[in-house]
This record gives sequence, C-alpha cells and structure tokens, in this order.
Amino acid sequence: MIGLTNPVREAREEPPPDPDALGFLQLCSDRRYHMKVMEAFEEAADIGSDQYYIEARPGGAPSWSDTTKMGRAAYRRGVRFMGWAGHGDRCLGFRGASNDELRSKLENVAKKRRDDFPKAAHFVIFGLGGEVELKRLG
Ligand SMILES: [Zn+2]
Repeated sequence: MIGLTNPVREAREEPPPDPDALGFLQLCSDRRYHMKVMEAFEEAADIGSDQYYIEARPGGAPSWSDTTKMGRAAYRRGVRFMGWAGHGDRCLGFRGASNDELRSKLENVAKKRRDDFPKAAHFVIFGLGGEVELKRLG
C-alpha cells in the first residue's frame, strides 16, 4: 500500500474531474509581477484565487520547453482557463534578454500551449513597467 498517497504518483494517474478547478497559470517567480499577474488572470477568467492551480519559477511560462506534469493534470481535471505569463524589465530566468525578446518568447510558448490544450481559453500575460498586459489568444 506504500505509495498510494504519494502526490507524484497520484498526478500520473487519471485524476477525477474537479468541478472547482477552473484554471491553470504558469508565471515567473518575480516579486514585482507575480501578484499582478494572478490578479489579471483571475479578473479575465472571472475566477477566484482558490479555483486555479499555479506553477511558478524564474522565467515563467517560457522557461518550460514543453507541457508540465501539473499543466497536464490540471487540464485533465477539467480546467478551461489557462494563463501563460512572463515579464520584461529584466528577468532572472533569462538574464540579459531584452523586453522584446522576453515578450516574443512568451507569445511563442503561449501559442504552443494553445495547441497542446485545445479545449481551454488561453491568456497571455506580460508584465512591463510595473503593469501587466493581458490578451486572450484567438
Ligand atoms: Zn522573471
């Protein structure tokens, strides 16, 4: 019976649908933007802070070259709002990258994830100058 409660193993199995899981957001750990990104996502998707999963690390969504275990698990659980976030003004995940480069990386990865998770609505969220811009991918 050992391992049945191991969360890593659980994520690999088919999870039950979770009606309260409405969203998934990948973002950078950056202290200046993480809260603003989350608030913009909640407002755009019209969901509460306890209705979506997050995954954060330096670099945000473009720092993962492929879908992640958490993203796939969230999608299988039925989330239908997915946010892909990054920011300019220097990012520790991409040292030396310009604002244009950072934005371009984010937009490219968001399009890939839209193709990976076709049943979801996708939002691209980019922080710059202390503000966040959000747009829905068509
Ligand atoms: Zn960053």
